This record gives sequence, structure tokens and C-alpha cells, in this order.
Amino acid sequence: MITFRDVTKTYEDGTTAVQSFSLEIKEGEFFVLIGPSGCGKTTTLKMINRLHNVTDGDILIDGKSISDHNIHELRWNIGYVLQQIALFPHMTIEENISIVPELKSWKKGDISKRVDELLDLVGLDPSTYKKRKPSELSGGQQQRVGVARALAANPPIILMDEPFSALDPLSREQLQQDFLRLKEKIQKTIVFVTHDMNEALTLGDRICLMKDGETVQVGTPEEFMNQPKNDFVKSFIGNRRSVLQLPLEELLEDLQLNPPLTPAREVDSSTTLGEALAVIADEKALTIMRKGEPVGILTNDMVLHFLHVHSQEGGLV
Ligand code: ADP
Repeated sequence: MITFRDVTKTYEDGTTAVQSFSLEIKEGEFFVLIGPSGCGKTTTLKMINRLHNVTDGDILIDGKSISDHNIHELRWNIGYVLQQIALFPHMTIEENISIVPELKSWKKGDISKRVDELLDLVGLDPSTYKKRKPSELSGGQQQRVGVARALAANPPIILMDEPFSALDPLSREQLQQDFLRLKEKIQKTIVFVTHDMNEALTLGDRICLMKDGETVQVGTPEEFMNQPKNDFVKSFIGNRRSVLQLPLEELLEDLQLNPPLTPAREVDSSTTLGEALAVIADEKALTIMRKGEPVGILTNDMVLHFLHVHSQEGGLV
């Protein structure tokens, strides 16, 4: 568990980036920090692994102040993925992923096994990629290596700062979809910074919307959709709010459902897309029923894809 207790960060030039920020991030939670540029997301994230120091207040990990942790151990136990993955250009992919396990003096055989396992996990064939240099990979593949590297020594916490935002829309969506599956498998506490509400709604267990260094609303995607606290929250959710309030019935064609071949939790087509989104994260797939008959299967990937297309088109409604 990560606890922010009344945290304030003022930079040397007098800029207060984060102000009286209190928050509890639960173990195993996928927690999203979202808000407009300059609202303090990155500063908040970087204070967790002490890349920035807290000016006032405290951050605790499992009840212990981060200032009482040995800084090296703290960083080894917190994976970190950035927008532009800083892979070391002169090192192979395998060497890049092995850095923290080597620092932790893992046995060579264990490191090598772990590299293969991680490359498989992030969808890169180990025999094809592990001896390559970063420049021989696409941007999307480099981000995948970045995720593998952050997971290398099996840290309980992963910090991710806009990890997909430098990618072209197609690679970005592919990586988001793969990451949806990955997050179920790895079961870590993930703190994820984004300015993309689609990403927040589809990946996050809970979301914190920030403005001017302060919390505006903390809640589940469903709470954001159904109980936006004020106009700022509403404007941030934008036209997704209306589409998420539509019943599935009206979206069946656009959602392009799979045929209902495998059993999944059943929901009636009168359910709104927002309600479906709230349960789909746990269920992974839903069978949409109309008048007691199954009409198709809806998965989280489909909702993500739909929201992307929807926001690119500027909204259907
Ligand atoms: P976000 O990630 O939401 O875009 P940041 O945490 O990067 O926001 O920045 C929050 C505020 O702090 C901004 O006003 C930014 O200009 C300022 N800031 C960030 N880093 C520094 C720094 N090293 N020195 C001074 N001000 C900074």
C-alpha cells in the first residue's frame, strides 16, 4: 500500500507542483493519475521512488516512510516505465532487461531464464529479440522491452509515466490491449500517469483526477461516469460520458461483438456501456442478452477499441 499524507512539493524556483495531497493506493491496484498538463502527475509519481523529494508531508510504503528506506533498495523494488524508454543503446535487449537482477546478484542462469520469460510475457520472441540492440526495434517494441525491464526483478510496485503516449495510434492501442491482459497476469500495484481518459477508464481500477497540484476526484471509472463531482470532471470525461450512458442495445453494430460461443457473465442489452465497463474488468468478457437470447460477447479490448474510434471521430452522439 502506498500512502500520501498531506504531501506538498515546492520546487527550488518556488513552483508548488503538488499541494496537501493525500491518497491511499491499495496493494494490487491499478491506479491512474490523470489531469491536464502541468497539474502535478509526474511530480507525484517521482516522489514515490524519491526521484523528487517531498517538501512537506510524507509518503509511506506498507506503513514505512520512504525516507526510512534505503534509496537503492527502494528503487530496485519499484519498476519504472517512462514515455520514451531510456534503453541503453550500446547494450542488447537481454542486457538491458538484466540490469536490476544483476545489481541484486541473481545467478546467471536465473537471469537468462527470467529474460526469456519476460520477453514472452510482453509479446516479443526471445530468440529473435534478445541479442538485438534497441535501435533494431520499433518504438512499440522498445516500450515492451521497457515494461519487461521494469518487471525484471519482480518488484511489487510499478510506476508508469505516459508509457504509450509517444506511439502511433495503432501501436498504442495494441500495447494498451496487451497491457490489459498483462496487468491481470502480473498482479502488481501499478501507478499510471496519463492524460488520456480512454486509457484511464479502461485500464484503471481507480482514477485520481488532479488539477493545480490538488485532487479533484478519486474514484472508480464507474463513479467518474455516474457521479462526476463537478464541471471540471465532466469536461474531462467529455463526450465519452454520453456514449457510456447509452444502452448496449444502441451500440451493438459499432461494438462488433464476437459470436456467443463461450459462456460468460450475462448482461441484458439494456445495460449501459458504462455499467458494462464497470463489471467487465473482473469478468473479462460479457455475454450480451436480448430478450433472453445471447446476441454476442463483449470484451474489454472491444470497449477500448470502440472508445478510441469514438474519440477519434469526435463522438457518435
Ligand atoms: P504533469 O506531469 O501533470 O504535466 P508536472 O508534475 O510535470 O505535471 O509539473 C507540475 C508543475 O511543476 C508544473 O507547473 C511544472 O512546470 C512544474 N515543474 C515540474 N518540474 C519542475 C522542476 N524541476 N522545477 C520547477 N518546476 C517544475
